[in-house]
Amino acid sequence: MRNFLRKRILVTGGAGFLGSHLCERLLKDGHDVLCVDNFFTGTKDNILHLLGNPHFEVIRHDVTFALYVEVDEIYNLACPASPIHYQFDPVQTTKTSVHGAINMLGLAKRVKAKILQASTSEVYGDPKVHPQPESYWGHVNPAGLRACYDEGKRCAETLFFDYYRQHNLRIKVARIFNTYGPRMHPNDGRVVSNFIVQALKSEPITIYGDGSQTRSFCYVDDLIDAFILLMDTPDDFTGPVNTGNPVEFTILELAEKVIELTGSKSKIVFKPLPSDDPKQRQPDITLAREKLGWEPKVPLAVGVGHAIAYFDALLKKSIS
Ligand code: NAD
Ligand code: UDP
Repeated sequence: MRNFLRKRILVTGGAGFLGSHLCERLLKDGHDVLCVDNFFTGTKDNILHLLGNPHFEVIRHDVTFALYVEVDEIYNLACPASPIHYQFDPVQTTKTSVHGAINMLGLAKRVKAKILQASTSEVYGDPKVHPQPESYWGHVNPAGLRACYDEGKRCAETLFFDYYRQHNLRIKVARIFNTYGPRMHPNDGRVVSNFIVQALKSEPITIYGDGSQTRSFCYVDDLIDAFILLMDTPDDFTGPVNTGNPVEFTILELAEKVIELTGSKSKIVFKPLPSDDPKQRQPDITLAREKLGWEPKVPLAVGVGHAIAYFDALLKKSIS
């Protein structure tokens, strides 16, 4: 007889950075977790510590193909998230977002599961409204290098809302802003991991542009809290809801903070800014505060400290 308090939860992209933290948290909360991943950017190392748990299962599978499983809830995270990874095979990135969403929504419809989409602040593009509320429709270049990700995620949101309106599916859409922490891929080019790894190796810290562009960085534990709270909101709340830390920093300030916290002797060097790089990004989290009772708790210095400890151990392991 199945224990109905123990939900069967599918996490696509479960071997990635956010996915592995989410799987860990759902297991801790007493659920059965099915992790689906094609290991494009995720790694078994991220979930090795969970493999002995009898309530945890892993399937190597690409979400652009149909999946037949029986679950109560789905967190759809499968998609490369860093610019160098999603631009490596842009056609596959769009397919992952769009076909992946269609397949996971089809699965949710068949088994009547509730489904959460990991959307992104990139749906706002290079925003002309600051900070960004959910009501802002964005400023995206549909033909640019980031479009495979931005437009893929925008289309995925469209599909979620059409399945909601057309098929009464229970959906939740989280627009995630830059999130960081242990288990980020050390070579995926994202700014927090890049700066920490460069600082720990005493290599130059590469700032793209003049470093005046801004981002708002959320620690992974805060973000996972938001996912869980959002999934548990009443069925009439679908989002989209911004999930991120509203404290905004310039990229130069981040570089200086990483140098200070690592005590590194690295020097800052300036490189060309990639095309379509957003100049400002800061979430308006009024809706998350109101509907989820959530706001981030972990200050940048504390979260970056945890990430430094993680990358330091990783680098020492790769040398020994
Ligand atoms: P990540 O690259 O670490 O994780 C993505 C996971 O999806 C990886 O394990 C990868 O192997 C898997 N994957 C990719 N394509 C797949 C496919 N076709 N089939 C099955 N699995 C596939 O990235 P992350 O930072 O953990 O991001 C997770 C999700 O959150 C993504 O959807 C991303 O767009 C979204 N997001 C993340 C951030 C952030 O700052 N971390 C910000 C906005 C949105
Ligand atoms: N960035 C940088 N140096 C790096 C990596 C990134 O200056 O080594 C900049 C990048 O140009 C962008 C910001 O940091 O302005 C955040 O980049 P990231 O790739 O982490 O995320 P996104 O641009 O998707 O927010």
